[in-house]
Amino acid sequence: MKAVTTQRILAGTVVAAALAGAVTAVIGSQAPAPAPPRDYPVQPVPFTAVHLDDVFWAPRIETNRTVTIPAAFQQCERTGRVDLFVRAATALRGEPLANTKSPGYPFDDTDVYKVIEGASYTLSVHPDPKLDAYVDSLIEKIAAAQEPDGYLYTTRTINPQNPHRWAGRERWELERDDSHELYNLGHLFEAAVAHHQATGKRTLLNVATKAADLLVATFGSGKRSIWPGHQITEMGLARLYRVTGNEQYLTLAKFMLDERGPNPGEKTNPRGLSYNQAQARVIEQTEPVGHAVRAMYMYSGMADVAALTGDAAYIKAIDTIWENTVGMKLYLTGGIGASGAGEAFGRHYELPNMTAYNETCASVGMDYWNFRLFLLHGDAKYIDVMERTLYNGLISGVSLDGKTFFYPNPLESNGQHARQEWFGVACCPGNITRFLASVPGYVYARAGDPSTGSGQALYVNLFAAGRAEIDLNGRPVKVVQETRYPWDGTVKITISPDRPRGFTINVRIPGWARNDPVPSDLYRFTDEAPAPTLNVNGRPVDLKLDKGYASLNRTWRAGDVIELALPMPVRRIVAHEKVEADRWRVALQRGPIVYAAEWPDNPGGRVRNLMLPDKAVLTAESRPDLLNGVQVVKSKAIGLAHDAQGKIVKTEQDFVAIPYAMWANRGRGQMIVWIPRTEAVAKPAPWPTVATTSSVSTSGRKNPRPINDGEEPRSSDDPTSYFDWWPTKGTTEWVEMVFAKPATVSETEVYWFDDTGRGQVRVPKSWRILYKDGEAWKPVESPGPHGVAKDAYNRVAFTPVTATALRLEVTMQPEWSAGLQEWKVR
Ligand SMILES: [Zn+2]
Repeated sequence: MKAVTTQRILAGTVVAAALAGAVTAVIGSQAPAPAPPRDYPVQPVPFTAVHLDDVFWAPRIETNRTVTIPAAFQQCERTGRVDLFVRAATALRGEPLANTKSPGYPFDDTDVYKVIEGASYTLSVHPDPKLDAYVDSLIEKIAAAQEPDGYLYTTRTINPQNPHRWAGRERWELERDDSHELYNLGHLFEAAVAHHQATGKRTLLNVATKAADLLVATFGSGKRSIWPGHQITEMGLARLYRVTGNEQYLTLAKFMLDERGPNPGEKTNPRGLSYNQAQARVIEQTEPVGHAVRAMYMYSGMADVAALTGDAAYIKAIDTIWENTVGMKLYLTGGIGASGAGEAFGRHYELPNMTAYNETCASVGMDYWNFRLFLLHGDAKYIDVMERTLYNGLISGVSLDGKTFFYPNPLESNGQHARQEWFGVACCPGNITRFLASVPGYVYARAGDPSTGSGQALYVNLFAAGRAEIDLNGRPVKVVQETRYPWDGTVKITISPDRPRGFTINVRIPGWARNDPVPSDLYRFTDEAPAPTLNVNGRPVDLKLDKGYASLNRTWRAGDVIELALPMPVRRIVAHEKVEADRWRVALQRGPIVYAAEWPDNPGGRVRNLMLPDKAVLTAESRPDLLNGVQVVKSKAIGLAHDAQGKIVKTEQDFVAIPYAMWANRGRGQMIVWIPRTEAVAKPAPWPTVATTSSVSTSGRKNPRPINDGEEPRSSDDPTSYFDWWPTKGTTEWVEMVFAKPATVSETEVYWFDDTGRGQVRVPKSWRILYKDGEAWKPVESPGPHGVAKDAYNRVAFTPVTATALRLEVTMQPEWSAGLQEWKVR
């Protein structure tokens, strides 16, 4: 990555702490609003003041700028999202619509806003007239789609007589369910502030304040009640308050939070009140529940409002929720939201690996929230959690080439997962674009009172090579980090104030370097690592920690050097015994990086059949050629496989693990984070079957590999390795098994997939077997009944046939879909 061409440093001590993640750029010709009378006691150092040229983030940020943001804009154009604004403007002018197609989801507007936000961040550190002009053209379209009173929601404006069924007949009528009117505006506010701060222009900011003014006029104490069905409006309003100084926005944000909860006589969301965190008043909530992204945005909004108002009850509530989250509902990768049903948090300690949902957006939200808690409390434990998510379960959401995205981020795969270029619901790519562009804003922070100039402190939170110019007590301090973190734990920090002066530098000593992988008992290392060391100008410093920081108070002179050495042995981690999915399993971590074994690096392209003995020696090796340059973990593992008689054969074999976040960059296949320590929980490789591959009728969207992967289901609803035709229902479909050479077969066994109670797949109405005779498909002759029993194999014998392929033809029950766990032939 090339150095950025301009650095915009904060003017004087004015800090309009507008947080988007960590954004406080104050630039442009407009006079900024005065700083709010009260805000976070710790303030972020804006990403515009921090330039990274490190091995890990700098290339990802550059790929985000050059590949992901242009691709996301292209997708917004291609999928008609940009056109939504053009169509709404046409309808507002009373002209006939050229495009009469129904608009998509009522929240499609947000994808355009989010990518504008990401593009604005890149513009503020990397001027690009072409991108600037393109964003201007989008803003023109957005402004033209706004109704005269400020309302902006294309799906209704395009066709007010017949809007999307989630939108409701009247404005705001279904906001608490699924209209997403306020969600759209929340993202508009975020984008507008980012654009204003990046360019100094007010074009999008004017659209945002006009919409916010409509909200202020409509809702609030003595006016109508409302709370967002999908949160983010609260964060957006707080940010709009910081940049405009209009207190009504802050008051409305707090009103929306306080109105949330079960209200007498109010219609409840069909998915239940906990789905969108309305099961109790926000200050009475004690654990994270429901839709994980909504939850993260709400807790972040509560932190913002608490910082700006000093509301202690909000802080107590989010502190309690945080303890519960990191104690019982956090994946080792920092992901959250265990369940795909409702994209939601699971029960206490419910952390399944293969079906883990861990939406990329939830990881982004988790980092927004943890960073805000740090700004409230000045405690490094929040940065420990933030760093875990950042390096693992968040960055896994985008491929190394910046072109494809994960929506869920599971911790185990049988090859059914792959990143995609875009989604029907495209929240995750846009969130990646805006988050990555602002990553340098998470590296430093500062506390103290800039008006008196006393007791200011600089926080060094993340380690990444680069330079920053930080305003401290109204005077600049240059900070240079030299390190190969996260691959190497040696960090050299050179401090250069413009003239010698006294202040404190708080250097974070990561939890993982202090034998605490997480600030709870959810995960623990199985061994002790050597202690970190810290030197200032070559002299060792006694490591007495305060809230996770080594606090260095002295007179700093230009060229002073802090040297931090964080030993990085490969560590084994085990989970709390109540986490059933991780029992008798071990995970590997080195520095902040969680490892995964993936198919291309291990014998036979399998990893789910592995067992890693506790005594196996683990070593790290630098692989500059692999995955843009990573450290891999090497060892010897035991591979388990069935022989022809069904006996288990054990073979010692080479073992390689890669950083979890880099998996699925080399095609589909097996991956595992929690590796068995004992034979009992390993999945031995099956004895090769006569069938070499299988394909399915075209309405099947899933990978058919699980159908004959030899993995024995525990029940018909076992979610680990199945195939189904959902959402297709009531049709006749087929699965095909192809043999390498003609084979004589006379018996088949089928184990049906059925997710009664969870989904829409049932055992079929009927089925039969056909074989390929030349080019024709003919049914086999079988007198026996074709069973549709659940939780068992259904066996059918037939007159032997010699064929090159077999088909299993399935007729679904009307109104239901169908699927298979396993299909065997003999
Ligand atoms: Zn998402």
